[in-house]
Amino acid sequence: MNFIDLAAQQRRIKEQVDQNIQKVLSHGNYIMGPEIKELESKLAAYVGVKHAIGCASGTDALLMALMAYNVGPGDAIFTTPFTFIATAEVISLLGATPVFVDIDPDTFNIDPAKLALAIQAVKSNDSSIHPLPNNNVNLKTENVTLTPRGVIPVDLFGLPADYDTINRIAKERGLFVIEDAAQSFGGEYKGKKACSLADIACTSFFPAKPLGCYGDGGMCFTDDDQLAEIMESIRVHGKGGHKYDNVRIGINGRLDTLQAAILLAKFEIFPEEVQLRQEAARRYSTLLSHNSSLLTPRIPDGYKSVWAQYSLLAKDEGHRSSLQKQLQENKIPTAIYYPKPLHLQTAFKSLAYAEADFPVSENAAGRIFSLPMHPYLSVQDQEKIGQVIV
Ligand SMILES: *Cc1c(COP(=O)(O)O)cnc(C)c1O
Repeated sequence: MNFIDLAAQQRRIKEQVDQNIQKVLSHGNYIMGPEIKELESKLAAYVGVKHAIGCASGTDALLMALMAYNVGPGDAIFTTPFTFIATAEVISLLGATPVFVDIDPDTFNIDPAKLALAIQAVKSNDSSIHPLPNNNVNLKTENVTLTPRGVIPVDLFGLPADYDTINRIAKERGLFVIEDAAQSFGGEYKGKKACSLADIACTSFFPAKPLGCYGDGGMCFTDDDQLAEIMESIRVHGKGGHKYDNVRIGINGRLDTLQAAILLAKFEIFPEEVQLRQEAARRYSTLLSHNSSLLTPRIPDGYKSVWAQYSLLAKDEGHRSSLQKQLQENKIPTAIYYPKPLHLQTAFKSLAYAEADFPVSENAAGRIFSLPMHPYLSVQDQEKIGQVIV
């Protein structure tokens, strides 16, 4: 059994993928070829935003979004510690400071009430209100207070965060919001598609994501004309009117034409795959929700997960280990996203966070595990999993 079955998908679309690749080989525009614009306009229309900017990875998408807001030293960017490293890594790369905010225990996404407290704590430089990082990390100066600039909520496992509340809190305080939609392309929130829920949204086409390519890739989405123009410039070394007119510091952040061509083939079956993921998730929940020692995913009303992962909570770490062992003995792969919250990672040691700063994230990290999830998961395989987990 595969954790994610990309081969089954490839069997469906091989002809179209081959055809699209051949087309790129014959026109030869490997950098910023016509497939880039075609993909951008198709995905922007699907998501329901004005602009889409293809880029080299989900990480670059987040980096470009923060760079578009001129984020740098002294800026506080609020995000969750229960995510992939990339979300917070880009904040530190720009010399800004990640300020972690604990998650909601039901959705694993940033807790808006705690976000409001964290912003207040930074503004008043008072860690008795909410745990704060060491704020001199990137500044090499004493007693410099951080300025709250933006929020990066993460749509973990494909489920959008609570954007109505997050956007309201951010707008009232003059902060921007960047949706980390690396896992949620295809998800929905109150009738709107993921990737349309904040000022800028960033997704990833890493092969294991719901819409993945055959390498690295990503995309930024926004309705804001000016931000779109800036991100397009940042994507190509801060270009101005032409390639050798450089108006700002940028990166080499382009999406490869070949990856765009592959994505165009994959996107044709994507809406159907989203549907198949819903059915697979529903079957899991039917098979497993009677098990009182397990917590199956809870999707609030008005939300739709794209099920990048189907993640469960065991009773405790020991229970999780024994379940994983049982599954492994039956050749059923599992994974843990994420075993160590970011505030406890060595990479963020200099922020000087402590254990118990974010108890909900720490608790989830000790109990969570994910089951195989992809559109081609068979009923038989899921029933087998249901029988092994007793
Ligand atoms: C995958 C992922 C990223 C980074 O995407 P890459 O394309 O691998 O650079 C960022 N944030 C989250 C939540 C992710 O899952």
